Amino acid sequence: MDLGIAGRWALVCAASKGLGRASAAALAREGVNLVVNARDPDTLVDTAAWLRTLDTSIEVIAVPGDITTASVRETALAAAPQLDILINNAGGPPPGDFRDWTAQDWQRAVNANMITPIELIKACVDDMAARGFGRVVNITSSSVKAPIEALGLSNGARAGLTGFVAGIARQARLAGNNVTINNLLPGSFDTGRLRGNLASEAKGSGKSVEQTAEDRQAKIPAGRFGDPDEFGAFCAFLCSAHAGYLTGQNVLLDGGAYPGTF
Ligand code: NAP
Repeated sequence: MDLGIAGRWALVCAASKGLGRASAAALAREGVNLVVNARDPDTLVDTAAWLRTLDTSIEVIAVPGDITTASVRETALAAAPQLDILINNAGGPPPGDFRDWTAQDWQRAVNANMITPIELIKACVDDMAARGFGRVVNITSSSVKAPIEALGLSNGARAGLTGFVAGIARQARLAGNNVTINNLLPGSFDTGRLRGNLASEAKGSGKSVEQTAEDRQAKIPAGRFGDPDEFGAFCAFLCSAHAGYLTGQNVLLDGGAYPGTF
């Protein structure tokens, strides 16, 4: 299927690895020009070079820096001639026990996983509406639907973003001008972050990392972790010309792990 977005411009935040990188790759394969961001400049430059090989006709601009800072957001937004697609993403907060978290830990999590995407949405959706096309996808987490005990910072901060999106996505000024805002909720995808979480879980339980990974996969009806490319392909579809009637939704990609009817 031709997604109908060749030649458009996307900003993909936190895109040098994992789900952000896979989303950028899926958009690149559709001929979308990219602004990609991540903190480590060397990894980001390598990723940008790889993305250019996926479609030699596209432009890929790398903007290194921490997307949770206002100046990096400004630079990233200014790098594209116009923004048609925004993929909000940032590192997830660390696991732990809520008794140990300070107000500063909460502020960091809320800044990364709620305020940063809100600031980026605010900066671009009205221009998208004026041009009659816009797609915003926020990479959140299955923890929004089914909280994960050790990820309280993520459960809380991402729930705030989810509530905000539910309210604004339905504004006639946005939805009525072909601007959609949706959240994509990953379950367990095989990325560096997942491997890091498995390692810390293994340390706590005394099991090996391999055993911890096997046990986790056994609890997923699909019997495996998700492939980041599966995530990227779905993200690109949400950004497509065909997805204009889907807005304000939370789409769970978790191999069937969530047991509810809805
Ligand atoms: P990952 O493999 O660790 O990749 C994270 C990417 O984000 C890297 O490119 C990293 O590059 C970049 N990054 C992190 N913090 C950043 C910041 N402040 N500013 C700019 N770039 C930043 O992680 P992932 O698995 O793709 O996860 C992506 C998001 O999905 C996270 O929020 C995670 O919590 C959430 N999630 C993932 C899963 C899963 O199973 N993988 C499940 C649920 C939720 P630098 O370090 O160089 O900045």
